[in-house]
Amino acid sequence: PTAMREVFLETPKVRWSDIGGQHDIKRRLQQAVERPLKYPQRMRRLNVNSKKGVLLYGPPGCSKTLTVKALATEAGLNFLAVKGAEILSMYVGESERSLREIFRKARAARPSIIFFDEIDAIAARRGSSQGGVNVLTTLLNEMDGIEELRNVLVIAATNKPDVLDPALMRPGRLDNILYIGPPDVEARKEILRIWANKSVVNPEVDLDDLAILTEGYSGAEIVSICETAGDAALDEEEETQQEQDVKWKHFEYALGQVRRQITDA
Ligand code: ATP
Repeated sequence: PTAMREVFLETPKVRWSDIGGQHDIKRRLQQAVERPLKYPQRMRRLNVNSKKGVLLYGPPGCSKTLTVKALATEAGLNFLAVKGAEILSMYVGESERSLREIFRKARAARPSIIFFDEIDAIAARRGSSQGGVNVLTTLLNEMDGIEELRNVLVIAATNKPDVLDPALMRPGRLDNILYIGPPDVEARKEILRIWANKSVVNPEVDLDDLAILTEGYSGAEIVSICETAGDAALDEEEETQQEQDVKWKHFEYALGQVRRQITDA
């Protein structure tokens, strides 16, 4: 059906090393995936079930999507991505059908990850104005159905965990709940270094200083600062017709351009 166009298997190329900071999250997710594959008998002996669902929550632009993509790449899992709003915008009955189709595809492609971005769009608390009850019920049914089918991991992300229906987070569903927060100073340094390593940055630029100055910015905003600085260097290149590197003045300019949106600092 035409409504299924947006759901397809992807092969993300994001590595753990592309993500600055978030080391604890990386380790925990890797463990959730690898343990059942590597040590099924240890898990059986201690009567521990493998995780079926993870909920990532936190402010926008702080690497939720990036993290799920890296997990898929690093663990060699097929990756299906769905945006909550896309599912909800479909005709009556269509949303439910396409949800079931997504789970069917994921089972056919296992080991796999289904990533629901903006899960709040389809899993808002029942009784609230937002969302469709039937869509949520379908989602819960499909998640419960994974039980006997191994190797399909559901990961959902949201900026608004408070609006989610509590049924979604019950044991056996999205019960592995992880907060992905704004990058701390070390993480900011890593994000800057990852960008700088792919660019040509003047040695006068002290990334440690820049990491301090970018307090309160999201990862996405830090990347935006770097690219704005890069653009300024390109402008200069055009004016002078000489090759430029990215200098401190370019970063200074960029810091004035990119606004902090996740913190009110
Ligand atoms: P949203 O809630 O808006 O969907 P998100 O938390 O899923 O946001 P991502 O889509 O993962 O955020 O990040 C957006 C972009 O910001 C990434 O593509 C990347 O360029 C940059 N970014 C964010 N965090 C990091 C990080 N820790 N390391 C490197 N890049 C980052």
